[in-house]
Formats: sequence, C-alpha cells, structure tokens
Amino acid sequence: MKKIDMHTHLLPERLPNFAEKFGYGEFIHLEHHIPGFARMMKGDTFFREIASNCWDPQVRIGEYAHFRTPVQVVCTIPVMFSYWAKPEDCLELSRYLNDHLAGVVDDFPEHYIALGTIPMQDTDLAIKELERLHGLGFPGVQIGSNVNQKNLSEVQFFPIFEACQRLNMAVFVHPWEMMGEAEMRKYWLPWLVGMPAETSRAACSLIFGGVLERLPKLRVCLAHSGGSFVPTIGRIEHGFNCRPDLVAVDNPVSPRDYLRRFWYDSATHDAQLLRYIMEVVGDEKICLGTDYPFPLGDLEIGKFIEEMGLPGKTLERVFYKNTLEWLYGEKEF
Ligand SMILES: [Zn+2]
Repeated sequence: MKKIDMHTHLLPERLPNFAEKFGYGEFIHLEHHIPGFARMMKGDTFFREIASNCWDPQVRIGEYAHFRTPVQVVCTIPVMFSYWAKPEDCLELSRYLNDHLAGVVDDFPEHYIALGTIPMQDTDLAIKELERLHGLGFPGVQIGSNVNQKNLSEVQFFPIFEACQRLNMAVFVHPWEMMGEAEMRKYWLPWLVGMPAETSRAACSLIFGGVLERLPKLRVCLAHSGGSFVPTIGRIEHGFNCRPDLVAVDNPVSPRDYLRRFWYDSATHDAQLLRYIMEVVGDEKICLGTDYPFPLGDLEIGKFIEEMGLPGKTLERVFYKNTLEWLYGEKEF
C-alpha cells in the first residue's frame, strides 16, 4: 500500500548565521560538533541535538524504506518560524528555507512534498511569499498555533487565510511558543502539556473567529491529532452553549459543526484515542503524520495504525488518500 507521512521536519544541513547578518536576535544556527550530529543553537542557548536524518534526504529515504513509506511531506521546524523578527528579515529567512525545500523536492520528486513557511507577522509579506510558493508548486504552508502570542482569529491574519483559499493552498497548523512555557519549564511540560493546548487554541480561534465559516474551502490540518481539541470538544461546545455572550460573539455556529472541517494527523501514540477521534471526525479526515525525526514522534511510521485491525479502505484513506485530498483538494485519488 502507498504511504505518505504528512508531518515531518527537515532543515538545510548548513544555515547562514542570520543573527550576525541581521545584527540582532536569537535566530537558530547549527553547530556540527561531530560527524552526523549537530546542535541547534538559539543564540548562545542549546535548543536541541539533531542527527543527519534531520537534514539528509537520502538518509531519510533509507529510514522510511524500512517502514514501506516512500513519501514524506516536509516542512521546517517550528522554532525556525521566527515571527518575532523584523518582517523583511523573516521573509529572507523564510525564502531561504523554502528554496532549500524546493531543491529537495526537485532532487527527489518521488519522495518529497514540501510545505513552505511564511512571515505571518506581516500580512502583505506573508501573502507575497505565499504567492511565490504557489508559483514554485508548493501545495501548502505550515504556520504556528499563535503569532507572537496573537491568536489566529485576529483580523490581520484573515487575508492570509483568504489567499490560501484563493490559491488552493493547504494549511498545516503546528504548535509552537507554547502558552505558559516560562512557568512550566520542568518535566518537558511545554511539549507534553503546552503543545496539545496550543493546537486547541488555534482550532478554537479559527472556529470562533469565523475564519472557517467565511472561508468554506480553506483546508486546515491540525498537528498531533488536534492536541486537546477533539478530546475536549464536549467542554468547548458546552461553553459555547452556556456562555454565548463570551464565546459566540463573532460566529453563531456551534464548534461541534467544524470537527469535520479539519484534517488531523495520526500522532496520538494511542490506538484507542485515534479510534475515538476517527469516530468523531470521520476516517476521511485522519492522515498518517508522525513528527519524524523527533523523539516525541511516531517513529515507527504508523505501525500502531497497521495493528489496529482497520478495514483496508480505511487504511488506504489514512495512509495517503486523505493527505492528498487535504493537500490538493477535492480530486479523486
Ligand atoms: Zn512537528
């Protein structure tokens, strides 16, 4: 069976020293301290150790062959978004990352599909880069769950989503700069608790802000199976019903009505939860997505899904058809 992993991250092997170039800021740079490994540094602070499978397309293809998954959808690592930077500098960085991804797709068209990154903090520049990406053949973009702690319901972002719909570009929402991060550094809580909440924050903002209502053809996929969004939909809906004065101020439609508007990756690490989500949102909305190559990812590339005893037609949907529909729209695959 064909398999596409729609949630993976890829960086260039070398990054220019943007902090030096722009003269400010904690832009990520790489220190290749031993062969095959590099440290991602945020200014002088160690952020994360990465291995060659984070930058070497051939190494990745080899690792994926083991799991019979020929195609990876690649996007940058959220810490690279750099929405906090000056817009022109963020545009330059985004273009650098996007051109690198385009090169990987050009070199290995059978194995890679890329999602670009755009300077969300500047509406005009974001749309400019979105249009360039569309011209380069990118089917979509990855964006953060918040933009400098602004929610995706803010009016400044609407024209960007409108442009995504107009250009038929898919949107992948990935948690980053997690709320409460500074207050809960211990125990990896930003990743374990903050990330699922961030994704729900983004989903609720797109719903309550009326973005999905006003853009019926916008196709949005939520990382990590939507985080806490689907498991807490009862609470979200109840809040909408009991305090419409707080919740239903910009959109009168119940949040439950949008469950099937989103696509969701499969990275739950929990077959029971995935089965539940599949029941609630429909099996046409779940896409194999792993967060490879990071340790919190499903690094056996959907093996737990193969073991769930799902019908062949459902597996086919989850393993590639749903991803193609999300990326390219209502075509027959
Ligand atoms: Zn990810």
